[in-house]
Amino acid sequence: MRGRLLSTTSSLTSSLRRPARPLLSFTSRHATPLAFSSRLIHSRATDFLPANLPEWSDAQRSVREAIAKIVTKYPDEYWMDHDTEHKFPWELYKDLADNGWLGICLPEEYGGSSLGIAEAAVMLQTIAESGACMNGASSVHMNIFGLEPVAKFGTTEQKKRWLPPLIAGKERACFGVTEPNTGLDTLKLQSTARREGDHYIAKGSKIFISTAQVSEKILLLARTTPLDKVDKPSRGLSLFYTDLNRDAVKITEIPKMGRSAVDTNVLFFEDWKIPAEDLVGNEGDGFKIILHGMNAERVLVAAEALGIGFAALRRASQYASERVVFGKPIGSYQGIQHPLAECWMNLESARLMVYLAARQYDQGYTGGEYANAGKFLASEAAFKAAERAVLTHGGMGYAKEYHVERYLREATLSRIAPVSGEMIKNYIGQQVLTLPKSY
Ligand SMILES: Cc1cc2nc3c(=O)[nH]c(=O)nc-3n(C[C@H](O)[C@H](O)[C@H](O)COP(=O)(O)OP(=O)(O)OC[C@H]3O[C@@H](n4cnc5c(N)ncnc54)[C@H](O)[C@@H]3O)c2cc1C
Repeated sequence: MRGRLLSTTSSLTSSLRRPARPLLSFTSRHATPLAFSSRLIHSRATDFLPANLPEWSDAQRSVREAIAKIVTKYPDEYWMDHDTEHKFPWELYKDLADNGWLGICLPEEYGGSSLGIAEAAVMLQTIAESGACMNGASSVHMNIFGLEPVAKFGTTEQKKRWLPPLIAGKERACFGVTEPNTGLDTLKLQSTARREGDHYIAKGSKIFISTAQVSEKILLLARTTPLDKVDKPSRGLSLFYTDLNRDAVKITEIPKMGRSAVDTNVLFFEDWKIPAEDLVGNEGDGFKIILHGMNAERVLVAAEALGIGFAALRRASQYASERVVFGKPIGSYQGIQHPLAECWMNLESARLMVYLAARQYDQGYTGGEYANAGKFLASEAAFKAAERAVLTHGGMGYAKEYHVERYLREATLSRIAPVSGEMIKNYIGQQVLTLPKSY
């Protein structure tokens, strides 16, 4: 696969006399990764996965180094191929599972590492930053974060049943919340689960459910008490972690703009029998349980966006240093240099907000303003950096071989999901500025 891609792209490259693709090597740039001076400028755009970020903890730096060693084995060509051919990145997934990374946030007693969201954010940023972007991060995202509700609200029996296979990479799970008719208005979900003896009967549909093609399990949110029979709309929704039974659930993939190595699907189900023992927490408390992990998810998606932004900036800076037009490297022209400098500043300021939110979450803070703001700022900064990387490459930015067009497609996703920029601004407007709600 790599040979085929390299042979087509390298002939194009040499015939056009473009700058060579950067030869990225973690080890060469990190012979002494921890022996840094805190006055070093960190996160240089041309560094490949720098580990010397001064404000990171030792645990975060160790995660960064260890993950960087793994992801460096999967170059941009691997991701281009998997994106183009819509192939799940099993090799990376298995590598991370075999090295014990899938349970980074899950309890040690079930095979996890009991680290925090601050370390998981480093892991996902590093995966994305290697050039894997969302294709790499989304292949494990659900394992990293998705079972937080089970870890917090599941019974001991459920945790014993569900966590070890997920952490070992023997089972995968998808996250079934979004519905075609209700979109961001989660409280109006129309899928139902009706109790009948020792099981529930689920009926309804879900949309945009990622990794359903490769998952054995699903975390499903459905209404167990009708909306007109609850005192508050947030009551009456229940959460299940159960087998994704393909006899009862029709799964259809949605062709999409990017992140095509990882599938996204529509689910239709009727008469889907879900054992009552697969209910997580109390019946009717599903929304409260899901809410619990939302700040963590914002932080992780933000970290993934940061990774894409830094990857884009790395390629843009490299190209701008090497590409000579009108007798000088284009990076010496301020029209090219200054926007890249701005991208770096935007990414770094977003990064400080994101890791502040991660620390707060790990310390038990439940407010959402920093997690939401960090997610918004990181997504916008990443998108701008990816767009700027395309423009810096000129025509080659629009061609596939420099990968920045893929970064731009991937950077679009975190502006939309799991929550849009508009809804984040609504949240800040209402919760922080105490302005009236418009909807
Ligand atoms: C690739 C991909 C993967 C995904 N994976 C999953 C997954 O695994 N599981 C899952 O459950 N979901 C998943 N999603 C769904 C994702 O979380 C939703 O797309 C997202 O929450 C937006 O919902 P929607 O698409 O229904 O937008 P809509 O709710 O239809 O909104 C459309 C537009 O209107 C705006 N809007 C809506 N209401 C307001 C308002 N009150 N004020 C201002 N603006 C408003 C929105 O910001 C948006 O711009 C995924 C989506 C994508 C694209």
